[in-house]
Amino acid sequence: TFGPLADEDRIFTNLYGRHDWGLKGAQKRGDWYKTKEILLKGVDWILNEIKTSGLRGRGGAGFPTGMKWSFMNKPSDGRPKYLVVNADEGEPGTCKDREIMRHDPHKLVEGCLIAGRAMGARAAYIYIRGEFYNEASNLQVAIHEAYSAGLIGKNACGSGYDFDVFVARGAGAYICGEETALIESLEGKQGKPRVFGCPTTVANVETVSVAPTICRRGGTWFAGFGRERNSGTKLFNISGHVNHPCTVEEEMSIPLKDLIERHAGGVRGGWDNLLAVIPGGSSTPLIPKSVCEEVPMDFDGLIQAQTGLGTAALIVMDKSTDVIRAIARLLEFYKHESCGQCTPCREGVDWMNNMMWRFVRGDARPAEIDMIWEISKQVEGHTICALGDGAAWPVQGLIRHFRPVMESRIAEFQQQQQARA
Ligand code: SF4
Repeated sequence: TFGPLADEDRIFTNLYGRHDWGLKGAQKRGDWYKTKEILLKGVDWILNEIKTSGLRGRGGAGFPTGMKWSFMNKPSDGRPKYLVVNADEGEPGTCKDREIMRHDPHKLVEGCLIAGRAMGARAAYIYIRGEFYNEASNLQVAIHEAYSAGLIGKNACGSGYDFDVFVARGAGAYICGEETALIESLEGKQGKPRVFGCPTTVANVETVSVAPTICRRGGTWFAGFGRERNSGTKLFNISGHVNHPCTVEEEMSIPLKDLIERHAGGVRGGWDNLLAVIPGGSSTPLIPKSVCEEVPMDFDGLIQAQTGLGTAALIVMDKSTDVIRAIARLLEFYKHESCGQCTPCREGVDWMNNMMWRFVRGDARPAEIDMIWEISKQVEGHTICALGDGAAWPVQGLIRHFRPVMESRIAEFQQQQQARA
């Protein structure tokens, strides 16, 4: 069994803004404790702790963090290396990074320093979503406090290591959360994903923010939570038809049902009123109640259930939901946010979006269900960035589990047409 997480094992202890998020409050909660010692232990020691922890990227892809950071630990012909923190959180249903920056910004600033040290980076750029005005402001205050206290900047924490942290604000495009588009945007170019050349390492806010605690408490401590290959604690967003929507830190691999019942007050109207859950933000295919009964909230468990952990943002839908409309609405979002650069995404997502709205009305032929499945397969894996996949997967989840609902909607529409004729 997994969870519930004991209070002393929580990394994000100020999730709900219960206490001062400034430097004094952060230090009382244990942030910036012995940071100098961690830095002086050196690159290999930090990388080893992160590798031992089994931490995998918290932005959605789940790549092993220690390995990713070690790629940067190579000579760079004197050129400066940079850490870019992806704080462009825009996936529908997802707001975990927002909570960190709002209530625990020092965890991110200290995380930048430690992750930066592990990569031999000269500076970190935190690219933050434009709409996160208050969060950018809190972050800026935290950075200012850290500079004033000598924690970052020249001779950070007295370690002899120089490290700067900058905040760059986005301008409201979802696609800028995609790694390469983010770098383009940071460099002042159009936010379009690029295929070649990625001179920096991009890491997610949560991934970076847990690094100091892992180094303080040890990689083995972190690895003790969750299952093998799925270790650690994790922030989960729970929204939709639950009694108490929330963001909560829990042990990885906790059963989905326990997570909802323990922390979100259960499904509105009770568990039996559940229809489906999108488990990892809008790009992950939904799963019906029967699958939700047992599935663990981790990378492998959700892949086995033909979906994914993604950003670990659960969108809960009860039986009052028009599930076809819910997915159509997501397609509308992806169509709007596509940068239009590659044809399968530009044309395919638009096509799927138009078809989905016809399915909402039932104004389609039954054979078109197979057709939209085929289109989604032509989009999936055939685009420059993952936005195309993100648009294809929700459609596939809908057909996989709710095909009879789509068919009966079409039958109803046809009956109405015949009755009118
Ligand atoms: Fe742009 Fe879509 Fe292609 Fe990504 S998949 S590069 S968003 S057109």
